Amino acid sequence: MPYGAAALEPHIDARTMSLHHGAHHAEYVAQLNAAVELFPELEGRSAAWLLLNPGKVPEEARAAVRVSAGGHVNHSLFWRAMSPNAPSEPTGRLAEAIGRDFGGYEAFKSRFEEEGLGIVGSGWIWLVRSQQNGGRLRVVTTAGHDNPLVQGHFPLLLNDAWEHAYYLGHENRRGEYLKDWWAVVDWNEVARRFLASDHTARNRWAAEGEILLEVA
Ligand code: MN
Repeated sequence: MPYGAAALEPHIDARTMSLHHGAHHAEYVAQLNAAVELFPELEGRSAAWLLLNPGKVPEEARAAVRVSAGGHVNHSLFWRAMSPNAPSEPTGRLAEAIGRDFGGYEAFKSRFEEEGLGIVGSGWIWLVRSQQNGGRLRVVTTAGHDNPLVQGHFPLLLNDAWEHAYYLGHENRRGEYLKDWWAVVDWNEVARRFLASDHTARNRWAAEGEILLEVA
């Protein structure tokens, strides 16, 4: 994580951050290493590559790789999408795109929260740039640790709707967590991802996703 476990308090408590990063995320990394270590042909491949090329992962390891590589990539994106010192709202071209595609920042936030509340079980909520519709922004959800890049949607922002992300601080109140979370979103990082997607031909998002997102 690019900051300490207590850095996002009071919005996200230190114990949640510490367990989330040091136990949950760490476990996905350990599971991924265990899943690929029997297959020398996968040596040196990044987690994002493994997610984007399931057909090149031996079938015996495919299910475990999907969950653990997704867990690693999503959490890596998640930590860097938050900051204790970030602009509280999107600005510039990103703000314009949010206005165009959602009708404004407040409308976008409501939409994102609604989608997050609608997830049954565990999953993630995303702001993505869609490969369809001329690169419009969309809010989508994924189950488990699936990543929308696999469907050709470039991820800009994500929130973790697994109970482990909020249960200690917010107990069963996912809606409250989703609202509190806006205070720690790093809109500079979201703008960086927006720009990265802009400068790349859309049909190459998937192929270059790991580079654009800087996830090893
Ligand atoms: Mn998580």
